Amino acid sequence: VARPLDGEVALVTGASSGIGEATALALAQAGAAVAIGARRVDRLDALASRLSASGARVLTLPLDVTDERACADAVDRTRSELGGLDVLVNNAGVMLLGTIVGADPEDWRRMVSTNVLGLMYMTHAAIDGMVEQGSGDVVNISSVAGRTARKGAGVYNASKWAVNAFSESLRQEVTARGVRISLVEPGAVATELSSHITQPEAREASRQMAQGMRTLQAEDVARAIVYVVTQPPHVAVNEVLVRPTDQE
Ligand code: NDP
Repeated sequence: VARPLDGEVALVTGASSGIGEATALALAQAGAAVAIGARRVDRLDALASRLSASGARVLTLPLDVTDERACADAVDRTRSELGGLDVLVNNAGVMLLGTIVGADPEDWRRMVSTNVLGLMYMTHAAIDGMVEQGSGDVVNISSVAGRTARKGAGVYNASKWAVNAFSESLRQEVTARGVRISLVEPGAVATELSSHITQPEAREASRQMAQGMRTLQAEDVARAIVYVVTQPPHVAVNEVLVRPTDQE
């Protein structure tokens, strides 16, 4: 049976857990060959085995998106070893919530270098080839936090606001040349994301918020991403905001 992404190649950053892992599986199920990038190679190897077992072509990429050169290499290897690059999912991210007063600026550097610069480096590495081929999808994972700023999330908000601005500007630059730039903005998803928060009060608040509702699962977001990249070429789903029904 023909599948919607047969013959296409996708690269997913942050594929070692959560939304990225679920997205790699969903894209492969839709027929794509997938390159999976993240820093934890053991986790990528386990995912690669599952993908290969299901019959997908897969490439494992040890990747730190804060390293510009590593981003360029990841895109080059995807093109040379999987034969192209049609879908880039910029998913790698960190959410180090906390107040601005009393914050450790190291948290800010990690968020800006990963969520903002990392996404920009990956896009920079991929976009020329997509413009040349006159097609391609860049799906940037933003957040509800990219649309609504809240006390205790300031720098995470700022990083996702940057993702939204960068995406809309790039969309205007390349859309008429056949390259689609999309934003997927999840609400609370059950993943490891909040476990890395360094401010104890913020970590606890995040845990309690997630406990009080039926959160999204990573697969729910992966479905939205597959929807975005399986539209006919003349249809661009620019933005998808997907919250848990219980999230106010
Ligand atoms: P996870 O913590 O489960 O996944 C984050 C992924 O990013 C991991 O695979 C991690 O891999 C990777 N990553 C982190 N830093 C780097 C880096 N420097 N280089 C390469 N990869 C990196 O969280 P989620 O799946 O929830 O998060 C994915 C995206 O979704 C993020 O952009 C997040 O902001 C966004 N999001 C999540 C929401 C949620 O509620 N969970 C809500 C809204 C948006 P490794 O550590 O192996 O490098």
